[in-house]
Amino acid sequence: MQPSKRKRILFAEQIRKSYPMGRSSELKVLKGIDMEILQGEILAIVGPSGVGKSTLLHILGALDRPTLGRVIIDSTDVFSMSDHQLAHFRNRTVGFVFQFHHLLPEFTALENVVMPGLIARRNTRAVYDRGRRLLEEVGLEKRMEHKPRELSGGEQQRVAFARSLLNDPMMVLADEPSGNLDLTNSQALNELMWELARKKNKTFVVVTHNKELAARADRIVELYDGRVKNGVASGA
Ligand code: ADP
Ligand code: MG
Repeated sequence: MQPSKRKRILFAEQIRKSYPMGRSSELKVLKGIDMEILQGEILAIVGPSGVGKSTLLHILGALDRPTLGRVIIDSTDVFSMSDHQLAHFRNRTVGFVFQFHHLLPEFTALENVVMPGLIARRNTRAVYDRGRRLLEEVGLEKRMEHKPRELSGGEQQRVAFARSLLNDPMMVLADEPSGNLDLTNSQALNELMWELARKKNKTFVVVTHNKELAARADRIVELYDGRVKNGVASGA
């Protein structure tokens, strides 16, 4: 499909984020970001370390509130919701993959993967069936009963990716998901995530330092000094 024909599923308007610094000053991280995310696109967010990529990703995924600005996801003004409503909305709508896997250490791979479905109170059996299928899709059919510490770094991230897909979210946001892996594992994880995102026509936003990876995205948003460097033009 032509990118221009794609539906806009997220729209961020004039996002600002500051953190207090001492008693009288603040650190302005995001200084007015406008951007959109289109259905089914793979979008790379790049920029120097400390520029605010993680901060932005967390705001786009409604994990963190901006100081100012709006995020509209699928016609919903997300930050007008209470924290409780927001948590519910997020669990159904957004999947996250972090730089560190954030898996629960005392649960197996499968239990970790099904967690978002159980939290959403979906049918337990259907949730487990889906969890097993997703673990197969990421090549971990033989690791379902392993605890996170019994898995390699690459395997842990594949579990985290499977978990992010459990509730069939509208979009998956990944924050340097291969940042802690060696080159071989990093490439394997990236291949897998991109292939699956494409296959499932899943909207996928990835923060990455990897230029080759970013070059394969449908579109790149580059942050510099708290702003988008190259505008919001889509389909580039
Ligand atoms: P990036 O992901 O691009 O490396 P971050 O979004 O993590 O950057 O951080 C952007 C800036 O905001 C950094 O200078 C960081 O130190 C600061 N920052 C991030 N989170 C907080 C916080 N909770 N409190 C204060 N400063 C923060
Ligand atoms: Mg970061």
